[in-house]
Amino acid sequence: MVKDSLKFERLREEMVKRQIEARGVTDSRVLKAFRRVPRHLFVSEALMDQAYGDFPLPIGEQQTISQPYIVSEMTQALQLTEDDRVLEIGTGSGFQTAIIAEIAYRVYTIERILPILQRTRKLFDKLRYHNIVTRYSDGTNGWPDESPFDAIIVTAGAPEIPQTLVDQLAVGGRMVLPVGTQHSQELIRIHRDEKGVYKESLGGCRFVKLIGEHGWSE
Ligand code: SAH
Repeated sequence: MVKDSLKFERLREEMVKRQIEARGVTDSRVLKAFRRVPRHLFVSEALMDQAYGDFPLPIGEQQTISQPYIVSEMTQALQLTEDDRVLEIGTGSGFQTAIIAEIAYRVYTIERILPILQRTRKLFDKLRYHNIVTRYSDGTNGWPDESPFDAIIVTAGAPEIPQTLVDQLAVGGRMVLPVGTQHSQELIRIHRDEKGVYKESLGGCRFVKLIGEHGWSE
């Protein structure tokens, strides 16, 4: 399907220019990753033509693949380099995971809905993302055995910052997560150095619920 892949390549370039570069994302590693990852393969066949649009899309089980711009903003906020080990909570479609995997050394990603994880794991294998490690579990407990992490990203909205995750952040580490009510959240960036933990707000956002021991109950 050469014709199709050319079509999607054009749509992808347009997405990067109009939705991401035009809104001020400048990290060259993030832009390069967005030009490489075939976003249309992370949605169902029926939605492929919409995959490069400026909006989230349903991925089943009442979950969504995030809007491209928010993925780029969160990835840039993580300030990733090629040596980083990254923890992601909320694998979902795997698109955000793949973007991180293009930049960082390794991504540990946790999903609590088994059918979503099984489907996405197959896609990672098909696209040969050998630096993605997946786990079926409640991500609000983090991944203690593999901690500390250079970066942590949560792609579902938390009622408050889970201390369990802050504790798994390395000195010099960065964490990005949406925190707020079930209907609207603030994107928070946390930075840890040898003296302490610092928080800043990156603006408003809207995500599905982070459900778990240190998140929302069902
Ligand atoms: N980055 C993903 C976001 C998917 S939506 C994408 O763009 O496709 C958020 C995902 O977080 C959902 O798949 C949901 O099942 C998952 N999730 C919610 N709470 C979780 C938890 N405690 N642990 C792991 N995954 C969780």
